[in-house]
Amino acid sequence: MSKRDYYDILEVSKTGNETEIKSAYRRLAMKFHPDRNPGDELAEGKFKECAEAYAILADPQKRAAYDRFGHAGVSSAAGGGAGFDPSVFAEFGDFADVLGNMFGFGDLFGGGGRRRGGPQRGADLRYDLEISFEESANGAETSVQIPRQETCETCRGAGSAPGSSASTCPQCKGHGQVRFQQGFFTVARTCPQCRGAGQIITKPCTACRGAGRVARDRKITVKIPAGIATGQQLRLIGEGEAGAAGGPAGHLYVVVHVHEHPFFRRDGINLFCEIPVNFTTVTLGGDIRVPTLDGHDKVKVPEGTQTGTTLRLKGKGMPDVNGHSRGDLFATIQVQTPRKLTKEQRKLIDDLAKALPKDNFEPRARGEGEGQDERNLFDRVKDMFG
Ligand SMILES: [Zn+2]
Ligand SMILES: [Zn+2]
Repeated sequence: MSKRDYYDILEVSKTGNETEIKSAYRRLAMKFHPDRNPGDELAEGKFKECAEAYAILADPQKRAAYDRFGHAGVSSAAGGGAGFDPSVFAEFGDFADVLGNMFGFGDLFGGGGRRRGGPQRGADLRYDLEISFEESANGAETSVQIPRQETCETCRGAGSAPGSSASTCPQCKGHGQVRFQQGFFTVARTCPQCRGAGQIITKPCTACRGAGRVARDRKITVKIPAGIATGQQLRLIGEGEAGAAGGPAGHLYVVVHVHEHPFFRRDGINLFCEIPVNFTTVTLGGDIRVPTLDGHDKVKVPEGTQTGTTLRLKGKGMPDVNGHSRGDLFATIQVQTPRKLTKEQRKLIDDLAKALPKDNFEPRARGEGEGQDERNLFDRVKDMFG
């Protein structure tokens, strides 16, 4: 299997300095972090790949060896199973704050080895939340009902009836493992009696039948930040299932689905719409009303404005969910041809027709305006405004 170049992985140049490498790694680690991409193996792979690349490039000696000899020069340091080095993260003070439980994904890094029966982190939960377009634009607070396992209040998760306590497992004497001889070897196995816990509940709690956890339907308030888009998720720390044997609770991931708007279409933080305008207005120029998220804006169009012209209303798009800025609103003019005319109107247009040349007013440049409608409106607008 060929390995990717570490500089390519971190998207930095070969001459990039320490700060550049660090910030590149930080950005990518945030992007691909398992907490943000639960269940996404591709992201997980990239996350590990970035960690490996950073472990080499952040160390001047290893980096020099890599520059000279490539992957062969550092294979013992980073290759194969060496994998993830948590110390790499230690220097990012605020990093853990952004992502929360950094090392909750023990299995991810081949850590394994967690003693069965000991404290275990509760499972993460997922909730799919549908919201209206307006809620995504303005932000909202809503509550969701989640069925989940919670720590039993009667025994506080211990599993033993109040007043009694668990006793040491007689089979393993509290070790959680039993050893037995197999030929010349001593083999250790998880204790079958206590399933590795080292203790057995002699008088089980009646509320949870000794499980330490009970199923509950819990109403949880979710704050939806303005600007959130379909597919984005909110993480509610500790609102997942209760942990076992004193382990921390899992997280609740609320995956947001935003309903379509009948008039606006969204692309990133920008909004797009089409506005029908009477042909006389664009011919003579004048004010038109453009619907916005908060009402209407009056916009002046110049004389001779063509159909398909796109107006850009700065700051009238969606709020940026990660910042304080707002996107823009792109309104494309669709000139309307009157369908029904009164006698009087017909006469006026008839007179106008006589005064104007019969053919196209001016010869069109090659390609201009042709096949325009075959292309997606958004592509055209993007070309226009970059
Ligand atoms: Zn209980
Ligand atoms: Zn045991």
